[in-house]
Amino acid sequence: MAMTEKLYYENPYLEELEAEVVAVSGSALILDKTIFYPEGGGQPGDCGLFGDIPIATTEKGDDGTPHHIIAEGFLPPPVGTRAKLHLDWEHRYFYMREHSAQHLVSALLFSMHGIGTVAVHQGEDGFTVETNASDIPDDILLSVEDAASDAIREGHRIWQEEVEHIDAEALHMRRSIKVGGRVRIVHIDGIDEVACGGVHAGNTREIGEIAYVGKERIRSHIRTMWKCAEPAVSFRRGNMEIVKALSSLFSAERQNIEKEAERVIAELGELKRDVHRLEERIASLELGKALCDGPAFLLSDIPVSSYDGVLPEGYAYPVLVADASGRFLFYGDGDLFTKLRGALQIKGGGRNGIFHGSFPGSASDFISAAREVICGND
Ligand SMILES: [Zn+2]
Repeated sequence: MAMTEKLYYENPYLEELEAEVVAVSGSALILDKTIFYPEGGGQPGDCGLFGDIPIATTEKGDDGTPHHIIAEGFLPPPVGTRAKLHLDWEHRYFYMREHSAQHLVSALLFSMHGIGTVAVHQGEDGFTVETNASDIPDDILLSVEDAASDAIREGHRIWQEEVEHIDAEALHMRRSIKVGGRVRIVHIDGIDEVACGGVHAGNTREIGEIAYVGKERIRSHIRTMWKCAEPAVSFRRGNMEIVKALSSLFSAERQNIEKEAERVIAELGELKRDVHRLEERIASLELGKALCDGPAFLLSDIPVSSYDGVLPEGYAYPVLVADASGRFLFYGDGDLFTKLRGALQIKGGGRNGIFHGSFPGSASDFISAAREVICGND
């Protein structure tokens, strides 16, 4: 099997490289050497060009060899083809910085608070660190954000080396080593050393910005969410826009928005209760007018739910109330309701002589049809 020289470790800042196709497997190109990092350790694979052919992503083959996956609709070039590999540098550099930011957060969670990392994920809009903690208060996570910002400002060198397994174990790093043989160690000077096969920025300063953005419970652990670089900046700017919009909607200064929102919500609750009381009053009056010595039919402007509490006790005849939203309330004998439901093909149910449901079409058509069923042909 052809071995590929992996130059992304030697020089993660190399954007271009002349390479030769040594094997083709389906839509995957295997090259004699590469600067394209294959997906792994939470970091996405690289994309870019091989000559004119777009490389959609890079994956690890079964033996760890980088497989350059060519974009759909393109044919793989024959073995022996030489061309220039050109990295999508914006994509790659972002993930280098994000991966370094993730190490920084995991290292500080551990050194400051004894919290371990169990899984990580890198995305284009942020990364997550799943911890072994069942609860982490926000002030702890904000203290990690502060320390990470300090480390970014201070500018710590980030570098990698490959060491023998036994030497790696002797370092007693914060995460157990998951690979056999020689082990790659990523160092953040003065802060962290951990086994990692990813590609990193050369200095913490390159991360730029970091923001803690939230947490969630996953299984019995806390997963923390972070953003760095441009996504951190847009997150903060997005928050500012939301505050501006709320400030204008509530006509309140930034510091008063919360209080004003609480006041409006409380007022809305009171208004809803007032409306409900008035609707019940209307329902009671309307029903009083509709009841006569026989079945009563009422097309109501207010929701039928308003009639729930105002049905007359001991009225001997069925009462049907329908509203414009297609809901109805039937007050009467259960067998009659079953007959009505079958004849009109309507949905509904209930008990103790009170039935709710819905009907299709107009309320007046529904009432005419129901009147015919209830009053029969007599
Ligand atoms: Zn890593």
